[in-house]
Amino acid sequence: MEFNKCKRCGAFFVSNSCVCPNCEPKDNLELSKLKGFLAENDCPNSIETLASNTGISVKNLNRFLTQEDFLPVASKLEINPIKGINVKL
Ligand SMILES: [Zn+2]
Repeated sequence: MEFNKCKRCGAFFVSNSCVCPNCEPKDNLELSKLKGFLAENDCPNSIETLASNTGISVKNLNRFLTQEDFLPVASKLEINPIKGINVKL
């Protein structure tokens, strides 16, 4: 177990995930929304369009898109996974 700072709300918590237990349901909801959107639609050309189409913030999209599942999307949107992971809040 590690001491982590939540990537959504900034709260400190003990877990191996990157968001706190309060935010985990929100993350999961947005992730399934994002997956659903991408399954039914062509990927937009910009992360801003993706954000307005899904209602997910650009900040959260940047974080989600560093996950392996979304690598093809990230490369289309020219998101550098390494840069995404190291982004300062
Ligand atoms: Zn949180």
